[in-house]
Amino acid sequence: MSISRLANTIKESPTLSLNEEARRLRAHGHPVIHLGIGEPKNPAPINALLSSSAKLKAGDIKYVPTDGTPSLKKAIIRYTEENYGRLVAPENVIVSTGAKQALYNILFTIINPQDEVIILAPHWVSYPEMVKMVYGIPVIVAPEDGTFIPRMQDIEEATSSYTKAIIVNSPNNPSGAVFPEQFIADVVDYCERKGIYLIMDDIYHKLVFDKVTAPSAYQYTKEDIENTHVLVVNGVAKLYGMTGYRIGWAIAPKRMVEVMTNVQSNITSCPPVISQSAAEGALTGMQSIVDNLRFSIQNNRDVLMQEMRSFSDIVTIKPSGTFYALPDFRAYTNDSVKLARFLLEKAMVVTVPGSEFGMEGHLRLSYSGSVKDVIEGIDRMKWALDPNAPNEIYIGDRKLIRDWL
Ligand code: PMP
Repeated sequence: MSISRLANTIKESPTLSLNEEARRLRAHGHPVIHLGIGEPKNPAPINALLSSSAKLKAGDIKYVPTDGTPSLKKAIIRYTEENYGRLVAPENVIVSTGAKQALYNILFTIINPQDEVIILAPHWVSYPEMVKMVYGIPVIVAPEDGTFIPRMQDIEEATSSYTKAIIVNSPNNPSGAVFPEQFIADVVDYCERKGIYLIMDDIYHKLVFDKVTAPSAYQYTKEDIENTHVLVVNGVAKLYGMTGYRIGWAIAPKRMVEVMTNVQSNITSCPPVISQSAAEGALTGMQSIVDNLRFSIQNNRDVLMQEMRSFSDIVTIKPSGTFYALPDFRAYTNDSVKLARFLLEKAMVVTVPGSEFGMEGHLRLSYSGSVKDVIEGIDRMKWALDPNAPNEIYIGDRKLIRDWL
């Protein structure tokens, strides 16, 4: 078998493979708690279901325009106006099969071989792999130890004449950090002065807590939509609990959307029309669903913080958004892969190793599931790791005794 040199360097998405592992263990009857999963548990909004089932009933399921159905694009334009204060034209919008494809299309469109893309750690697992897939070079910029907020000074030092883009994801997967206004203002200014694209991955932009708002990069650009270097990616997966529908989009200058459309037309033709109808239903239906989700996830976040406080020596920076936290486990070990494996084996808890996000010694915990899972999952982790925790625990109907501390 002959696998290309490039394909050989691309890692499997660790979060998706963990989902598989958890599914497999559960199917074998193991009482797994999944604190690795990156999706809310609520069903899709009723308007999304009605809208897509109308399409199904009519059997009207054909190819549609590559860049998205006109009615979904209209809903995205309204969403952009209401949430970003930006009026954009249909030619500035391209709908894709998930925010993932929107990001890939952008990178494919702007990156020449050997161009560099600055990625801010802790970062979403797929950014470096996507950059490599278009023959670019990921340049990872880490924050100061003990914080998840990037510094402009570090970005400036990492910039070279090959820097083509910076990817900013706030609210951030995996840390839950929401970057301050001043940082967003500075990075927009920096990118526009230098002619570097600023790719804003806004997939969690409304999942924010404690009345925090995630600053929009559009607020700080001095350029109009055709000249701005700000490119915005968003989608319905996280805000509406619609991960499986696979609908995301990008907002960009018209010429760039045109090229992305050419790219997409040769790869997927168009996102499925059933999913596009569902996304349209979600965007035009009652928005209280997003508030309800935010409210219940904020409650989960509070429970998680409460539980983590009684965990000896673990520092957990309070997340301001998303449904992730990234506690620092370096008091126990620097090897997060080994730690995640140990927790799965001993305590049947799925976590994601921080090394996958450029943050070794940490574990990403997701609190998008139930409060019960958050409490029980962290209790099990304490039992497995913390000598101060009781050394007996029930996992499922089995009483386990810790004999390794
Ligand atoms: N960006 C980030 C930061 C994400 O966490 C995810 C999903 N895990 C995506 C993009 C991809 O979203 P979608 O499911 O719409 O492809």
